[in-house]
Amino acid sequence: MDELKNNFGKILIAGPCALESRQQLRECVKALKEDGIKVIRASLWKPRTKPGWEGLGDEGIDILLGETIPQGLIPATEVIYAEHAEKIIHALKKYGEKATAVLWLGARNQNHIEQQRIARVIAESGANIYLMAKNQAWHDERHWVGICEHLLSAGMPKDKVMLCHRGFSPGLLPNPKGYRNLPDMLMAMRVQAKTEVPMILDPSHIGGTRDNVIDIMLEGELYPFDGMIVEVHCHPEKALTDAKQQLKPQQLRQHIDRLEAVQ
Ligand code: PEP
Ligand code: MN
Repeated sequence: MDELKNNFGKILIAGPCALESRQQLRECVKALKEDGIKVIRASLWKPRTKPGWEGLGDEGIDILLGETIPQGLIPATEVIYAEHAEKIIHALKKYGEKATAVLWLGARNQNHIEQQRIARVIAESGANIYLMAKNQAWHDERHWVGICEHLLSAGMPKDKVMLCHRGFSPGLLPNPKGYRNLPDMLMAMRVQAKTEVPMILDPSHIGGTRDNVIDIMLEGELYPFDGMIVEVHCHPEKALTDAKQQLKPQQLRQHIDRLEAVQ
């Protein structure tokens, strides 16, 4: 996992919610690289609440890998089906044996059979791929631990698995700040301890707005998370998905400066 960590030992993943174009990614990568980010997210396949644009899909694979790996960066995207993981594995081969990627299972992808298929194709490929699982949308500790167990039982090596807390659907619970999803930081810490795999925080999908995202990043500092995944877009107001919650690169920079100062 060390290769994913930045200079102060945290796994920091940043980048746009979705890959929209080569130009969009290139501009964002330039800013993030200057900030010492090593892992760049830009999702190719987007589960959507309502019918709409679903991401660049297969067409974006060469853009995501080509705009990151040659610069010594690590690409990261959600995968929904095992076939998506297979396509990334195939495309990674072009970049040599050491090429690395991070793939993740999103909150809405809760078919354990597909989760295991994804884990199996990654494990059997021998590619240097880390698999991250976000918590499911509903508040249930056993289920979340179970996702991790499914990945391990399908053959993923433990040192290539990590988890991510992106909050739970608020349902009817009080939500005075209007978070998109409610965090349960203590549950995240218990799951981190039970599973013994790294746990990172996703303030973007918890907060839902730029101001809330910054508040959650600060709150997250009070807990021993192993890192963060943050949505960053150079022109967030024009983003095709999650426009309200994506930070500008300078906003992430300010937070990293704070984190560095307290090291
Ligand atoms: C995302 O990371 O863009 C995403 C879709 O997140 P989640 O699965 O947490 O909703
Ligand atoms: Mn998003």
